[in-house]
This record gives sequence, C-alpha cells and structure tokens, in this order.
Amino acid sequence: MSSPARVVIVGASIGGLTVAEALRDEGFDGEITLLGDEPHLPYTRPPLSKQILGGEWQPEQAAIRTATELDALGIRVLTGRRATGLDVGARTVHTADGALPFDELVIATGTEPRRHPVLAEAATLRTMDDALRLRERMDAARRVAVIGSGILGSEIASAARKRDAEVLLVGRSGLLGFGGVGTLLSAELVRLHEAHGVELALRTELVAARDDGAAADPASAGGATTLEFADGTTRDVDLVVTMIGGTPRTDWLASSTLDLADGVACDRLGTAAPGVSAVGDVAAWFDPVSGRHRRVEHQSNAIEQAIAVAGRIAHGAEAPQPVPLFWSEIHGTRIHAYGWFDPERPLTELPTTAESAGTVSGSCDDAGALRGVVGWNAPPRDFRAARAAVVTTTRPLVPHS
Ligand SMILES: Cc1cc2nc3c(=O)[nH]c(=O)nc-3n(C[C@H](O)[C@H](O)[C@H](O)COP(=O)(O)OP(=O)(O)OC[C@H]3O[C@@H](n4cnc5c(N)ncnc54)[C@H](O)[C@@H]3O)c2cc1C
Repeated sequence: MSSPARVVIVGASIGGLTVAEALRDEGFDGEITLLGDEPHLPYTRPPLSKQILGGEWQPEQAAIRTATELDALGIRVLTGRRATGLDVGARTVHTADGALPFDELVIATGTEPRRHPVLAEAATLRTMDDALRLRERMDAARRVAVIGSGILGSEIASAARKRDAEVLLVGRSGLLGFGGVGTLLSAELVRLHEAHGVELALRTELVAARDDGAAADPASAGGATTLEFADGTTRDVDLVVTMIGGTPRTDWLASSTLDLADGVACDRLGTAAPGVSAVGDVAAWFDPVSGRHRRVEHQSNAIEQAIAVAGRIAHGAEAPQPVPLFWSEIHGTRIHAYGWFDPERPLTELPTTAESAGTVSGSCDDAGALRGVVGWNAPPRDFRAARAAVVTTTRPLVPHS
C-alpha cells in the first residue's frame, strides 16, 4: 500500500497531536498539517479541573510539546485557525484563510460544553482560557453552585471545596455518574462529597436564575446569582458553574456528506468516509461491545484511537478496538476505571493486597467473564493486576436486541 502524501488533521489537542506524532513514529514522511482554532499549542485537559483550577500548576505545565519539538518532527501547526467546511469528494478542508487539500483527513475537534437552558452565560470549563477565568472567579467566590452530576461536576465541586468555598452540587437525576461506569459508583461518590462538606441537591431541577449584579453577601467579592428550583426554593450564590455534558464540534461539517447523528460516525477502525477518519471525543466509532456507534470522552481513548488511525494511514495496519480507560481525582481520592460496565449489574468487590486501604471492584458479563474494573484509591499494582484480568473480547456485555 502506498502512503498518502498529505495528511491534514483538524483539532490541535491530544487526539490530533497524537495522530501527527504516531504518523512520524510509523515512518510516515509526507506533509502533516495540524490545524487548531485555539491560540495555544496543544495542551492536555485533565489538569484543567485539577491542578490548574487548584492553583498548583501554571498553564505551561499542561503543554504537551514545544514549538521546537513540533518543528523537529516536521509537523506544521496552524494555531488560531478554524476549519469552516469539508468537501469529502474534492478532499479539501476550508478555512477562513483558504483551502487545505489532503490525501487523508483526520477529524479531532472534540466537544464543547452544552449550555444550560436557564444559565446560558454561566461559567463552564473546556479550555485553558476557561480554566484560568474560572480560577480567578473562584478566588473571589465564597458560595459556589455546580450544576451537573457527572465526573467533571464532581471534580469542580472538589476544586471549589479545596479553596474553602461553600459548595452546592446540583443534579437533575438522583444519582452521580462516573463516565463509562455510569451511576454504579453513585453511593460512594455521594458519601465522598458529603464527607468533604459538599451539599448535594440531587433530583433537583433548576428553573430560573436571576443575576443580582452586585454581591448580596458583603463578605463575598463575586457578583451574586439567585437560583430558583422547581420545588420553589431559592439559593444565592457568588458563582455558578454548569457542567452538563458536551456537544461534538461538528458544526463545520454540516454541509459535508458525513453521518453526524452524534459526533462523526465511523466504522470500527475509525473511518468515516474514504480518506476521512475521526478520533477522540468527537468520534463515534462502531463499538461491537454495545452494538452501536459510541463516543468515548476520555483522554486515553483519544490517544489509542489516534495511534490506531495513524498506523492505518501509514501502512494499512488494523489495530484492535481501544479498551476504555479513565481516571479522576475527587477530594484527593483517585478513581480509575478500565473496561466495559453493565449499568444494570452492581459492581462486586475483588481481592486486593492485605495492606491496601483502597478497593478494587469488578463488573462481569452474562457469561461471568470480568469485563470492567474500578480502583478506588487502589494501589497501582492492585489496579494493574485487576486490569490484566479483564477479558477484552468485543463480545457484547448483554445480547444486543
Ligand atoms: C476539564 C476537563 C478534565 C478532564 N479530565 C479528564 C481525566 O481526568 N481523565 C480523562 O481520561 N479524561 C479527562 N477529560 C477528557 C479529555 O480531556 C478528553 O477526552 C480529550 O481532551 C479529548 O481529546 P480530543 O483531542 O478528542 O478533543 P479536544 O481535547 O477537545 O480537542 C479538540 C480541539 O479541536 C479544536 N477545534 C474544534 N473545532 C475546530 C475547528 N472547526 N477548527 C479547528 N480546530 C477546532 C478545539 O478548540 C480543541 O482545541 C477531561 C476533559 C476536561 C474538559
């Protein structure tokens, strides 16, 4: 198979950059152009809600590669440049500054935060610039409300408690979620938040928000917002952060021929159309385990998909389906998850080393095979051992209907 001469990658973050680097690792010597609409060189997002928000890191510590390193790899990086359209047939990406022809295109444009219907202007967190703004606002806030019961809502509640703010965590559903583990860890997460002084308002619907301009509480330096809930109660806070999920950034692909039902639909190898692939949060690869197209919004998935796509572009190699792996740190507790989880089946505790204070639990499929494991403050070697025992077959967890 002959290698393509020009690869264009749209989205200059972990997924896009990893494709570019992996192409060079695979010996690809053609042109690589990495296009990103942020003003920064690629950086990694997990520290944004942890070390950056916590004030322990400066922005440069989240950077992945320097301009010199990218130059040395022969990767042309165009920052501050947005793709505005794609012509699949003509193999051309359009931007405000002209067209970029390609032999192979990789779409790695991630997601953007979904806006809350009654809090469209509230703070949220996706980019480095969001994180720096939020950090500054958190410095001035004594009472913080976080709307959203997923991992990122929990992480932001944790960061705000670390800064000694009073924190209200609001969720419309009655349970807290943890990525691909679903709500199987909800009870543990609730206990963890309560032990760290977070007030939880679950099964609570926010119906209105009123900006009171100046701080209602003179002890607070932030502007005040009154939140109104469906049960008629109200709450004054200095800062509201909404984290209610992400929307795939496919706006620029609207007039293309790609299937964009939820992200960029791809086959099980990441191909969306001839010469067009997608990786990372925006990509919905066909997942044989669930029997449907599915987006996985975790960093290691973006990396593994990127390596797989680079191998395919460089010399037609078919890589196995990445196994979901994700982690978080909430109130100092390290939580890792690997594999697939049946939301209907409770986790069962697995043995750990005698001296371990953490736990490891697992999820089995219909045939009794271990398909997913969660480490809760588990020593790395216990989690590693549990991971190694996971059966990484693509057999469905439960028969597809
Ligand atoms: C605050 C936060 C904390 C997280 N913590 C964890 C964690 O602890 N563990 C974990 O596994 N995962 C975590 N994640 C998820 C992880 O960061 C993502 O899975 C990962 O960033 C996905 O990478 P990506 O390259 O697919 O997309 P992104 O990182 O979103 O990058 C997409 C890039 O494309 C750019 N772009 C979009 N549209 C265009 C366009 N039209 N033209 C040009 N450029 C465009 C975007 O601006 C962006 O720079 C976290 C995410 C966030 C936001």
